[in-house]
Amino acid sequence: MNNSNFHIKPDGKNEFHFCPNCNSKNIKTITDIGTTHWICPDCDYDLYNNNAAAVGLFLIVENKLLVFSRVKEPQKSKLGIPGGFVNKGESLEEACIRECSEEIGIIPKEINYLCSFPNVYPYKTLVYSTCDAFFFTEYRGNSEEFLSSIKTLDGEAENCKLISLENLNSDDFAFESMRKAVAVLKKRLQK
Ligand SMILES: [Zn+2]
Repeated sequence: MNNSNFHIKPDGKNEFHFCPNCNSKNIKTITDIGTTHWICPDCDYDLYNNNAAAVGLFLIVENKLLVFSRVKEPQKSKLGIPGGFVNKGESLEEACIRECSEEIGIIPKEINYLCSFPNVYPYKTLVYSTCDAFFFTEYRGNSEEFLSSIKTLDGEAENCKLISLENLNSDDFAFESMRKAVAVLKKRLQK
């Protein structure tokens, strides 16, 4: 038996077993267009499942893109780029630079906004709806120097490598938002 108050239904929707405020089993899941919230008729608890903000960074070195294999679930071993959730109190740009620094030990000097796409991120017993904002930056240096300066300190990335844009297969990327953003990146850099 699952004793957790929060569970994922077969259709991928999150649901509470009982009210987190008063423990009533009468809590209702309301799914409106594009959003979910939970209402408890017994104590007036009303929680919205708002989108989480997340970021991703395309790092270009000598016309090649940095990618790595994801070490952790979800989408373990699929291709990833530096990125993650935006912390409380952070801007998108700050989160992007922090995540890049944490995951590959490189602090980008200047990042440029590219595009954003919605995404679904299943993590353990929760499914997060996110809005993923993508940035890109060009590393001024050669490939060998860049690759040798990478330090995968937080254990989220392995097999860091540079792939030329024309050889990128968007199906190899971990998330739908990333696959769409790769297409936008290719167009942007061809201009
Ligand atoms: Zn309640």
